[in-house]
Amino acid sequence: MDLSKTGKLIADLRREKGLTQKQLAENLGICSKTVSKWETGKGFPDISLVVDISKLFSIDISSLIDGEMPTERRAAGNVKRTKFYVCENCGNIIQEMGNSQIICCGRKLKPLKAQAENDTHNVNVEQIEDDWYITFSHPMEKEHYISFFAYVRFDRVLSIKLYPEQGSEVRVPVMRGGKLYYCCNKHGLFEVKLQKLITARGAV
Ligand SMILES: [Zn+2]
Ligand SMILES: [Zn+2]
Repeated sequence: MDLSKTGKLIADLRREKGLTQKQLAENLGICSKTVSKWETGKGFPDISLVVDISKLFSIDISSLIDGEMPTERRAAGNVKRTKFYVCENCGNIIQEMGNSQIICCGRKLKPLKAQAENDTHNVNVEQIEDDWYITFSHPMEKEHYISFFAYVRFDRVLSIKLYPEQGSEVRVPVMRGGKLYYCCNKHGLFEVKLQKLITARGAV
């Protein structure tokens, strides 16, 4: 058993889910120092927590102990199953691919349902150097704005929090495939396939 390998895996799984150490600790009912201990290879979760962790991250216990992401998961992590949660209390945004319960500020959160783009909620993508330059045709006012953006691929999630009065644009490294998600504070979550945008533009 290699503590640092398991620690790294826990850190990866936690980030994949968009959780902070504190949030993971909250989910497991422990203190965040313990999480930091595991992640730096200075400790290993108690056996009772191993079960909870494996459930939370939908990973089998032996992979957790070996500190290795199961191959099938690496290859086929399911973009379709990605869910987003927004805590209305603190504005925290959480993303996950499993079926775990998401709790924030002591409340159970419900996943947002993604809708197709419409006339007022849509994005434009162009390539600038090594980035996708993504712009929203949407207000960025206090009352009505895009609160976060996420680029989800089978193997990773890049999420970016946005604030009112900042530019309605994000840049992510150029990658193939995957989906873009973004959340309007009034109208909810929207999704679009990256490929669809690129084809539509006839770009790249
Ligand atoms: Zn919260
Ligand atoms: Zn809107």
